[in-house]
Amino acid sequence: MNDMTTNERIDHLESLLEIVRGLTTAPDLESFLQTIINDAIGMTNSELASILEYDETTQKLRFLAMQWFERDLLRPVTVPLDGSAAGWVFRKGQPLIIQNVKVDKRHFKVVDTKTNHETHSLVAVPLIVRGEVIGVLEALNKKDDAHYTEEDLTILETLGALAAQAIQNMDLTRKVRASNAELAELERLKSDFIAITSHELRTPLGLILGHATFLRELVGEQFTEQMDTIIRNATRLKEIVENLSDVENYDTGSAIVRDDRVSMAKIAAEVVLSFCREADQRNIQLKNETDAAPYFMQADPIKISIALSNLVKNAIQYTEAGGHVTVKVDEESGYLRVAVVDDGIGIPARELPRIFERFYQVENPLTRRYGGMGLGLAVAKGMVELHGGRIWAESSGKGSTFTILLPVNQPA
Ligand code: ADP
Repeated sequence: MNDMTTNERIDHLESLLEIVRGLTTAPDLESFLQTIINDAIGMTNSELASILEYDETTQKLRFLAMQWFERDLLRPVTVPLDGSAAGWVFRKGQPLIIQNVKVDKRHFKVVDTKTNHETHSLVAVPLIVRGEVIGVLEALNKKDDAHYTEEDLTILETLGALAAQAIQNMDLTRKVRASNAELAELERLKSDFIAITSHELRTPLGLILGHATFLRELVGEQFTEQMDTIIRNATRLKEIVENLSDVENYDTGSAIVRDDRVSMAKIAAEVVLSFCREADQRNIQLKNETDAAPYFMQADPIKISIALSNLVKNAIQYTEAGGHVTVKVDEESGYLRVAVVDDGIGIPARELPRIFERFYQVENPLTRRYGGMGLGLAVAKGMVELHGGRIWAESSGKGSTFTILLPVNQPA
């Protein structure tokens, strides 16, 4: 009498396939679990079904999904782990069939009283996520006074596995959302910190530099060296502060970009020239390999020059004595390509995606051999992106190549 016909089996498989599809397409967990409940009732020919979830705080089970007409009644009800069929299934992590609850003490009668309903028989399965039981799916009162079968149990177990998967997905989504919110908050704090520091440092630094320059003229030969040291270091500090506020400005979108007709070849030549002495002192061969073309483009020359300077500065900094650094500009289908190539210490592949982040340094900042704040590349990236361009790094074993790609004509 209980045996399923082939058509019924096909119907069941189709319903299950629908539910599997729902795992990725259902709009929310609630509607997905509702489908599971409805199918559990339909496929096992039961009167009712529900999903219970373990609640850590009360250490009891509570109803997560049920038929709509039971919702208000069941939502506030908690089911203890002792003295309930669901509790037994949860504890043991095993399925359970009770054909006659009157002779089985495991049934929890409170729910019947609350819902004004009498349970005769039930089938229940644990919801398991990675070996851990998180809840229970149960169906009640097989219709026509029939007995629950192994087949009912298999159906419920399949539905239970899908419900568990959906609950876990939702849990993961919730966790990802929470971490994203946390990250956004950290990012905001970082921005605030940069804005406040650069703003607060700028005025006193300006005063130090101004007065030191004035004093240098007054104190005469005797103290020139000391005054130069003060001015040099204050200038260095000023550069750091400017770097900070540059990052801040393009981050907040408040940067102003000039749109001049500029020669990229000229900018490259000027930048290379400005680093000649430093390269010489460190015994590094710095060369400009750009051909004779001017490579005109629409851009903000100061910003492009800062971006390229930061790349050349790094190339020299992260290359040992005897090494080579070359700069080259060329053009390709509406874009200018500026490449800075060195044969220095290189960058491990796993670090490449992160080096353009603010304050990111490959070596531990506290023990590293090189100076710097980890802002140079972030500034360069900001400047390039303000022009609708792209910047990236490549490194395989020895040496690094940094490439900037800039549109010849600025997008409107
Ligand atoms: P920093 O002030 O530390 O140089 P940057 O933002 O300019 O900051 O660079 C970030 C990190 O990327 C550096 O700390 C360095 O580890 C790595 N890096 C940048 N350019 C090079 C390069 N040409 N060769 C090797 N490593 C580099």
